[in-house]
Amino acid sequence: MKPTQYTEKVKEHFKNPKNVGEIKDADGVGMVGNPLCGDMMQMSIKVSEDGRLEDIKFKTYGCGSAIATSSMITEMAKGMTLEEALKITRKDVADELEGLPPIKMHCSNLAADALHAAIQDYLQHKERGEIGPRAKAEGAFNYDVIVIGGGPAGLTAAIQIASRGLSVVVFEGKSWGGVLSTLYPNKKILNFPGLPENTLGRDFVTSLLKQARDLGVELKNEFVNEVSTDKVVKTAMGEYHARAVIIATGTLPLACGISGETEFSDGDKGVYYYVTYPEKFMGKRVLVYGNGEQALESAQALENIADKLTFAYKEKNLVGSDKAIKTVKRSDRIKLLANTELVKIEGTDTVEKVVLHDLGEDEDFELVVDKVVLAVGMKPNTEIYSKLGIELDDRGFVKVDKDQRTNLEGIYAAGDLTTDLQLLVVAISQGAAAAHRVSEYVQKQKGF
Ligand SMILES: Cc1cc2nc3c(=O)[nH]c(=O)nc-3n(C[C@H](O)[C@H](O)[C@H](O)COP(=O)(O)OP(=O)(O)OC[C@H]3O[C@@H](n4cnc5c(N)ncnc54)[C@H](O)[C@@H]3O)c2cc1C
Repeated sequence: MKPTQYTEKVKEHFKNPKNVGEIKDADGVGMVGNPLCGDMMQMSIKVSEDGRLEDIKFKTYGCGSAIATSSMITEMAKGMTLEEALKITRKDVADELEGLPPIKMHCSNLAADALHAAIQDYLQHKERGEIGPRAKAEGAFNYDVIVIGGGPAGLTAAIQIASRGLSVVVFEGKSWGGVLSTLYPNKKILNFPGLPENTLGRDFVTSLLKQARDLGVELKNEFVNEVSTDKVVKTAMGEYHARAVIIATGTLPLACGISGETEFSDGDKGVYYYVTYPEKFMGKRVLVYGNGEQALESAQALENIADKLTFAYKEKNLVGSDKAIKTVKRSDRIKLLANTELVKIEGTDTVEKVVLHDLGEDEDFELVVDKVVLAVGMKPNTEIYSKLGIELDDRGFVKVDKDQRTNLEGIYAAGDLTTDLQLLVVAISQGAAAAHRVSEYVQKQKGF
């Protein structure tokens, strides 16, 4: 099979996937991901009294193979005993689909792992005598607390709330773990007190997710479109009511606003803000444009992947941590262009070249490239709150007090959308502080 060829069966399951969705009150939920490829899978299962898989549903964020394998395994495993289902291997799923491209075998063929994780989740809950989520909200409320954003701040908040016995859901619109899994899943986390030196972003995310799931936090892969002051949260799948809301939607990359940016950033045409899928840059001529940590991280992530890597920035010097600057400067695979401004991006269907301006010589020059990574900074992600009336500061960050309270009653905020400090340790401590204050608020409302 060619590296990119899909069988008819894969195409069929991709185009018409079976059993998509989420089982309400599932007996077990399994979530696995391959942050390198960006694939995330969630399987929920219902187990019959005689120990068979009565129902299986999946939600997968990923490529054609990821969706096809998820769909296929739900068909294969329905009706099986748990023991039988635990024996299904990745190879069995690929065989049933009449093969997968070799590159997808390890990358996107995670459906068996997700099903096994759901079964293990069920078995653990059963052993503890608690099938389904631990805490339930009462009355008109679906949850005690809704957290918007499944990055480090949101997941920490949810873990803390669940450990206080309240019911909590986290809505994540893209990729669990936020910046850590969207930008550079293979990046090592720096400066986090007590964390082993070489901990990767993706491993940290995996353990946060496991902790959340083990505590009964409900995790929903749904983008929140609207929040109201009466704590009603709307997604494409439904409307959810809570006593309190924590907003932890982080940051978004800043646009450069140059010609060709919008045209080629839409639909994989060669302009990116993240290096989530390093394989897309394999053997390509790449320009990284910007300065600071985000740009330095991008250059380092592509150093041994791109065929030719140019790193251009407007300033005379690189800005960022000493270590990252030294690494980039020392690399003989990265060509540095200081004092250089990106003027436009050009091409027919995809990016073919860029026009740069040498600020020292005051002249334009062209560079032939296939891909451009724009890393000029991040801005607080507050778009969905424009109608809510939440107070922002003059730089667009959500204003909070020392207890992470916003100006709206029962609505709290935590993490990168509230501060330009933008450190994991800060996001996590804000998430924890918000959780404790929210829990007090909810308990008071309930009359405790
Ligand atoms: C390149 C780079 C390298 C970094 N390296 C380090 C480091 O080494 N050490 C360190 O301490 N810090 C580092 N940081 C900073 C750290 O990653 C952030 O401070 C942290 O991720 C912030 O967490 P957060 O939860 O506030 O936001 P995020 O991580 O941005 O998560 C927010 C989440 O909310 C979701 N979301 C947004 N809108 C919606 C919506 N409407 N509905 C549902 N979900 C939504 C997003 O999809 C995202 O998953 C780095 C940051 C960058 C950019």
